[in-house]
Amino acid sequence: MAKSIAKKEQEPHFFNDVSAFFDHAAQFTKHPQGLLNQIKVCNSVYRFSFPFRRGDNLEVINAWRVEHSQHMSPTKGGIRYSEMVNEDEVMALAALMTYKCAIVNVPFGGAKGGIAINPKNYSIGELETITRRYTVELVKKNFIGPAIDVPAPDYGTGEREMSWIADTYTTMNPGQLDSFACVTGKPISLHGIAGRKVATGRGVGIAIRECANVAEDMKAIGLTPGITGKRVIVQGLGNVGYNAAKVLIEFGAIIVGVCEYDGALYNPDGLDPDAILEHRKNTGSILGYRKATKSFKTPAEGLEQPCDILVPAALENQLTEENIGRIQAKIIAEGANGPTTPGAADAFVKKGGIIIPDMYCNAGGVTVSYFEWLKNLSHVSFGRMDKRYEEMANQNLINTVETMTGKSLTPAERMTIVKGADELELVNSGLEDTMIRAYHEIRDIRNSNKAIDTFRTAALVGAINKIAVSYQNLGIWP
Ligand code: GLU
Repeated sequence: MAKSIAKKEQEPHFFNDVSAFFDHAAQFTKHPQGLLNQIKVCNSVYRFSFPFRRGDNLEVINAWRVEHSQHMSPTKGGIRYSEMVNEDEVMALAALMTYKCAIVNVPFGGAKGGIAINPKNYSIGELETITRRYTVELVKKNFIGPAIDVPAPDYGTGEREMSWIADTYTTMNPGQLDSFACVTGKPISLHGIAGRKVATGRGVGIAIRECANVAEDMKAIGLTPGITGKRVIVQGLGNVGYNAAKVLIEFGAIIVGVCEYDGALYNPDGLDPDAILEHRKNTGSILGYRKATKSFKTPAEGLEQPCDILVPAALENQLTEENIGRIQAKIIAEGANGPTTPGAADAFVKKGGIIIPDMYCNAGGVTVSYFEWLKNLSHVSFGRMDKRYEEMANQNLINTVETMTGKSLTPAERMTIVKGADELELVNSGLEDTMIRAYHEIRDIRNSNKAIDTFRTAALVGAINKIAVSYQNLGIWP
C-alpha cells in the first residue's frame, strides 16, 4: 500500500521564540533596526546529508551546522544527536550560543550542530563512522577549525564523540600545531580539561545559589535568602541535571523531586540522585525506587509538585502555557536550552516568579570550553608552571610568620594554606567568578530600568549591547 503523504508536522517555532525574546529586549537598546537584524539573523546555515550503509540497507543521514554570528571568531557550540533535531532547532540553539557567550564574556560567536539520529539505535562503531563522516563534511566546507568554528558536546554526545572529531580533524590537518583546539569537551587524556564534564551543571548550581543569596529578590517572591534548605525539583538526570543536583546538594539544597523520561519521583525530605540512577541500572526504571514517597508514571506530573526551585535540564519546550499555571516553584532555573516558551515565561513572571534564563544559567559549559580552548592553544595545563612556586612562596611566608610570632601551625593547617592551585581548582575558580559576575551584570541591567521586567530581557539587553560594540569595533557600523 502506498504511504500517505499527509503527515502533518508540528510547526517549527523555536527560532521564532528566541527571536521573540530578542525583539522584546531590543526595544530597551538604542541600536538601529538594521544592526539589530544583523545580530539576530543566522549568518551561515549548512544543511547536508550523507549516505550510511547498514547491512543491506543504505540510510540517509541528515545533519546541520549553523554559525549564527561571526562578530567574534571562532564560533562555538555543541553538537546534538537526536531524532528530533531539525533546522529550526539548530538555528535557535546557535542563536542562544551567541547570546550566551556574550553574557558570560566568552569571546566567541555562537554556533550549533546536529545529526538527526537516535544514538541508542546505533552501535558504537556505527556512531564512530557517522561522527567521522560528519566531521569530514565540516572540514570540506571550512565549518570547523580552532579559529573558525569549535564544536562541543550537547544532548546525545559526549567525550567519546569529541575524541573522534578531534582525531578526524587532526588527521586531515597534519602539522597544524593547534589542531586539538578544533573541538572542546574532549577527555582529559586527549587534551581535555579538568572540570569540563561537570561544568554546565556546576554553573547551574552556582547561578541558583547566587540568585538565592540576594535577600531583596527572595523577599519579593516570598522566599527566605540563601540556598540552604531550598527544595528543588530537577527535570533530567543527564549530564546537566545530574551535576546540577549534585552541586546543589553540596551547597545545602534538598532535591525533593526528579523527573526522567521513564517517570518522576518525589520525597519532601530529599532524594539521592546516585541511588536513583543505581536503582534504574538494576531494575531498568527509576520507578519503584523505595525512598520516594510519591512516584508518577507521567513524568510531567513530577514538575508540578511542591518546591521552591524547578530546574528543567532536559530539552526545550517543557514549560508551556498549558502546564505553567500548575508549577508551584518560585524560581525556574533553565539548565536546558529553551525549556520555557515565551507565553509560559510571561505567565510565570506575571505570577511573581523568577526565571534564571538558559543563556546565562547553562553557560558554565561553554565557559570551561573556553578554558579548554586556551589550554590547547597554549599547550600547557593550568597550574603547571606556578603550582610549586606558589607552594614554596606560601611555605616561606608561614616560616617567617612562625619565627616572628613564636607560634606554629599544625601540619594539617600548614597543608591547607600552602597548597598551590591545580587545574581543577583554577577551572572551578574561573567558572565561579564568571557565573557570579555575569549574574550581577544581568541583575544591574534589570534594576536599571523598571520596564525591563525579567532576567532574560536584561541578559539579552546586555548581550545585544556587547555584540553591537563588536560590530562597531569591526568597523561594520559607525
Ligand atoms: N552544548 C553546550 C551549550 O549548549 C556547550 C557548548 C560549548 O561548550 O561550546 O552551551
